[in-house]
Amino acid sequence: MRKIELNKRQERILQIVKDNGPITGEQIAEQLSLTRATLRPDLAILTMAGYLDARPRVGYFYTGKSGSRLLTERLTKLTVQQYQSIPVVVTDSSSVYDAICTMFLEDVGTLFVVDQQSSLVGVLSRKDLLRASIGKQMLETVPVSIIMTRMPNLTICYKEDLIIDVAKKLIEKQIDALPVVKNNNGSLFEVVGRITKTNITRAIVDLANDELV
Ligand code: ADP
Repeated sequence: MRKIELNKRQERILQIVKDNGPITGEQIAEQLSLTRATLRPDLAILTMAGYLDARPRVGYFYTGKSGSRLLTERLTKLTVQQYQSIPVVVTDSSSVYDAICTMFLEDVGTLFVVDQQSSLVGVLSRKDLLRASIGKQMLETVPVSIIMTRMPNLTICYKEDLIIDVAKKLIEKQIDALPVVKNNNGSLFEVVGRITKTNITRAIVDLANDELV
């Protein structure tokens, strides 16, 4: 897999184009004492990564975009739907005991709570369930609706939202996950996904490992 980091030859090509652009592939090859064919993959990478642009009959020129600027451009294009996971939901009448079992069985850190109409009504975190467990209540009889964080205090997102905006919400609200929702009839939200700190981490790793071609 090709990293965003450029190899030595690509760095040299970039420098030649910076200094001499617009310049043809043939002329770049000449300066490096290589054939045009040898350079073709490097030029393709530099062009697709956004460092260089090419115009027919003019040649290659430097776009002026730095690595970090290009990275930012890529980051700000990633959307929730590319990284969201399947949501794990419980109904509001479920017991705290059942929610704990679901959290273990499904191996998630956040559960979403829905009502009889499958509309989002609450969120349960690990600590919400821990807190309920150290009390004296019977976990089998206490419904999750008593302990969950409920609407309208929930932070939600939509599949079209940008990953960077979700990341900002996670930081700002100091939470681990957001439900991805679909708006049905005004205030009714159907849960269609889950986006967590892990998904955001995956997006960062993908960016770092991104194939440039
Ligand atoms: P933990 O409580 O295990 O550290 P979080 O940081 O995600 O996990 O949750 C902190 C609190 O915020 C909990 O009380 C939880 O119910 C609530 N919470 C979690 N996610 C959301 C969300 N998307 N919207 C509103 N509140 C949330």
